[in-house]
Amino acid sequence: MSDFSIAIIGGGPAGATLARLIGGRCSALLIDGKTYSGDSFRKPCGGLLSPDAQKAFAEFDLTLPKDILVDPQIFSVRTIDLRTHCERHYQRFYMNLDRHKFDMWLKSLIPEKVVKFYGKCRNITRRPDGTFRLVCKGNGGAEEIFTADRIIGADGANSIVRKFLYPQKKIRRYTAVQQWFPEENAKPFYSCIFDPETSDCCSWSISKDNIFIFGGAFAPYKCRENFEAQKKRLEKFGFVFGEPLKTEACMVLRPESPFDICTGRNGAFLIGEAAGLISPSSLEGISFAVNSARILAEVLEGNAADPEKAYSARIIPMRIKILSKVMKCPFMYDPLLRSLVMKSGIESIKVIK
Ligand SMILES: Cc1cc2nc3c(=O)[nH]c(=O)nc-3n(C[C@H](O)[C@H](O)[C@H](O)COP(=O)(O)OP(=O)(O)OC[C@H]3O[C@@H](n4cnc5c(N)ncnc54)[C@H](O)[C@@H]3O)c2cc1C
Repeated sequence: MSDFSIAIIGGGPAGATLARLIGGRCSALLIDGKTYSGDSFRKPCGGLLSPDAQKAFAEFDLTLPKDILVDPQIFSVRTIDLRTHCERHYQRFYMNLDRHKFDMWLKSLIPEKVVKFYGKCRNITRRPDGTFRLVCKGNGGAEEIFTADRIIGADGANSIVRKFLYPQKKIRRYTAVQQWFPEENAKPFYSCIFDPETSDCCSWSISKDNIFIFGGAFAPYKCRENFEAQKKRLEKFGFVFGEPLKTEACMVLRPESPFDICTGRNGAFLIGEAAGLISPSSLEGISFAVNSARILAEVLEGNAADPEKAYSARIIPMRIKILSKVMKCPFMYDPLLRSLVMKSGIESIKVIK
């Protein structure tokens, strides 16, 4: 007999959505450390809600409270290729959010019935009857042990559940480094930067409530040096950085093929970035997190004979979407192809200064 029928590890967009959808109907535990307090974990993120993520919320008939939005809402991305010095603007339909408030709002929608443990899961073992034993450490430092019939890994890029289920699995990973600065640029803007000298992925900047956030995804080795080198190069493009208010970093996955996605096995499931579900072209992950949580909730509620197989089958459209993003990558990340695309002006907009 276990303490819970389901334990969800991680309460980001994926875990919070799953807990909201299934939490009222079974005995569920959510393990996540995030709170409103200032020293609580805050996910480093661009905080842009893509049209796909907006559609996912529309399908839930959920509306977004306005205090989650930040100032200003931006309608185009300034795309800069530091190799060729080519610059283009493209129309975008993102919503500019406060990511921590967004995460806390998603957590606030979880039914009371779900037991919330504020802390981290440190160790997972399988009990002789096939159920799970979780050793957790609370935010205050106290250790607690829980047992559950099923576990859900919603614990993001560095998932302990994925490592437990697939110890050999390697998904391409980057270190995302972000710094916050007082806004000193003449005008708030959103940008996407390509600089093959410092990274084979991309960087971004976004203005939020008089704060200018600059971040990028870098190969883990020498990530900080490359981040600083890129900042120097961007100063020549008019970027004003000043003294950082804070520096944050985390791992971000970048799948190279639909086979990188792992959905779980033997009573354990993976959703969101823990499963490797994130766009390798734009690093957009919120829509994948919310949609995979919805699919898993439907599978678990459908009482399928083989829920692992059913969930894996229902994730196929997402694998295809990841494949389409993999195929898009050369046009964004191959220096020659990108330069041709940008020089052609396809889909760009003319900005009148
Ligand atoms: C710098 C950066 C910028 C990004 N910008 C955007 C963007 O603008 N738009 C977008 O759509 N996507 C963006 N992404 C991707 C997006 O943030 C993720 O794909 C998305 O948050 C995944 O949601 P998730 O719920 O799967 O995981 P997460 O949001 O990572 O949530 C995982 C949760 O699990 C908790 N956790 C981790 N380990 C444990 C443990 N052992 N025990 C208990 N809890 C645990 C964490 O504290 C966290 O709360 C960005 C990513 C990065 C790194």
